Amino acid sequence: MILKVSDIPDSGFHFDIRDDRKAIAYGKFNIPLSKLYSGFMDITKTDDGRVIVEGSFSVTLRLTCSRCLEDFDYVVVESFRDTYFPKSFCTGHGVHELSKDDLDVLYYADGELDLSLIYLEKTYLSIPMKPLCSNECKGICPVCGKNLNYVECECNRKFIDPRWEQLAKLKEKLLKG
Ligand SMILES: [Zn+2]
Ligand SMILES: [Zn+2]
Repeated sequence: MILKVSDIPDSGFHFDIRDDRKAIAYGKFNIPLSKLYSGFMDITKTDDGRVIVEGSFSVTLRLTCSRCLEDFDYVVVESFRDTYFPKSFCTGHGVHELSKDDLDVLYYADGELDLSLIYLEKTYLSIPMKPLCSNECKGICPVCGKNLNYVECECNRKFIDPRWEQLAKLKEKLLKG
């Protein structure tokens, strides 16, 4: 939803997140949602054109574990308070003193703020590079391909790279003197 900054009343604008998308685009992929977006935002503006967005949201993504390749639910819960500056702030004549809070400066352009983009971007940032169904996930056996979270196999997975074997022998030799 696009919000025109000039439409924000002085008393602020309360926005309930209602979003019926069932998947979000992620690079070339689509991530399905097991639970749709819900949450809210309270939006206020200051006299000098800053827009302050305070809110929280939750969504549940269906991710694929990078170790065992099974799908699992990944819950995103975020609370935030962000300040958006009009784009003219950075290109204008006045010198804007950046305070510590402004290190991640956010801007809005053309007097508009895309509210769905706010929670979508936060969702993207929370997706781990290597999603894991659990920290203890045992992954799949590289020999037989079985999911080691469910079964144990008899495979010998202690395969030593021949190059390391040479090094190990060398080390043994050195240690023996
Ligand atoms: Zn896993
Ligand atoms: Zn195996």
